[in-house]
Amino acid sequence: MVARHTLGPELTGISSPDPLKFAFAGKKSAHTQSGSIPVPAEQTQDVYRQLMDSPANPKLLTNGKRLAYIHIPFCRTHCSYCGFFQNTTKKDEIARYVDYLEREIRMSAQDAWTQEGLFHGVYFGGGTPTDLTPEQILRLGNAVRESLPLANDVEITFEGRFHGFDNDKIAACLESGFNRFSLGAQSFNTTLRRRMSRIDSGEFLLERLDYFNSLNNAAVVVDLMFGLPGQTLDDWERDLYTFLQSKAHGVDLYQLILLGSSRMKQSIEKGSMPEPASSPERAEMFRMGVETLSSHRVGRLSVSHWGRDTRERNIYNHGVKSGAEIMPFGSGAGGNFAGHNAMSLRALPAYYDALDAGKKPIMMMSKATGNKPLLGTIGSGFDRGWLEIAKLNHAGGEGMSDHCMPLFEAWQENGLATIHHGILDLTLPGQFWNVTMHQALINFLEQHPLDGQNTEKAA
Ligand code: SF4
Repeated sequence: MVARHTLGPELTGISSPDPLKFAFAGKKSAHTQSGSIPVPAEQTQDVYRQLMDSPANPKLLTNGKRLAYIHIPFCRTHCSYCGFFQNTTKKDEIARYVDYLEREIRMSAQDAWTQEGLFHGVYFGGGTPTDLTPEQILRLGNAVRESLPLANDVEITFEGRFHGFDNDKIAACLESGFNRFSLGAQSFNTTLRRRMSRIDSGEFLLERLDYFNSLNNAAVVVDLMFGLPGQTLDDWERDLYTFLQSKAHGVDLYQLILLGSSRMKQSIEKGSMPEPASSPERAEMFRMGVETLSSHRVGRLSVSHWGRDTRERNIYNHGVKSGAEIMPFGSGAGGNFAGHNAMSLRALPAYYDALDAGKKPIMMMSKATGNKPLLGTIGSGFDRGWLEIAKLNHAGGEGMSDHCMPLFEAWQENGLATIHHGILDLTLPGQFWNVTMHQALINFLEQHPLDGQNTEKAA
């Protein structure tokens, strides 16, 4: 058993009268990371082929779910906070890209791995899928339905911006089977939106949400960001109430993580943009978000995601956090399948060349070293905000729950979680710090293996 006093504050947080604001030094990343070993570049195609020619390993299917991610790496403008911009939207280039992307999707239909099980979530993300034409949406939507075995309740999401997502494109989405729209509002405040290089006004967004609602078809969820430069608590409250008055079915609340490469960071450093909210201010905004949505009885689907009615299910996003297998398609797409992580080529010429040569356009691949069922169980718990402690034994081996208990008890002492009836329940501070705590548990398991096996145990 690991002694409680040997665990450092980077794992346990610190004791504070206000853990929401001060338990940890600050949130550094939006995602957790776990161990992997790179596959040498010259072996990636052989390894990939071997994996695809074998049926899927049911032990790797966390929650029995499989997902597909399809990337559209074009944006009309470069949002100032974003570090993921790839290519400027150009009609001819998108047309060429869609030809290749369709080919990549259809190629995978012949693989034993693809046909071995059902896909429960498909996500068209970017970039900006809403920059596709109606014809391109239909082609890609049909390619997915004709190539991937889909569960009969599959969630198929089309992500994008309100800008340029006209009625014909929406109709094409519905015709080709999309049943969920995830739209990056970020804020309904026009001034704040323009600071992020988002083109349309808040009023325009509300008009479009009214239009979606008039169709009475497919779930519509919006993202709202807190901690933006110059955003006050009053601004944030107005955004929350605007969501409540809107016709959107769900909302994702996420905090700004200022990326080093973003134009926003450079503008702040030059003094041409106000400072973003500090970590304690973001914590206060998170509290306001949770309390406002709870008091209006909006159902909570994860620590950061809410659904107003039964239309919103959040299958893909929860699957990603739970370690579900994800097959990536498209330039710059990332995924994980058959115990491996892969990232596709980001440069379009290289992406096209690989497909011309009949290859999966992989830029890099690594073999995950962690115990996938255990990491999936932990990821699922942190996404929901509660973890069934005994399940750690099923996933990580007998004794795993007891092994982790000193860390859980330290979190309880520091106001980040409670333990009762076998459930580790994140408190409001724990929900705010959930990525930090999730990463802390992964680090704890890597630093303190259970009988030398835990996260390295073969899945
Ligand atoms: S936030 Fe989305 S739309 Fe904006 S630049 Fe980044 S990828 Fe493109």
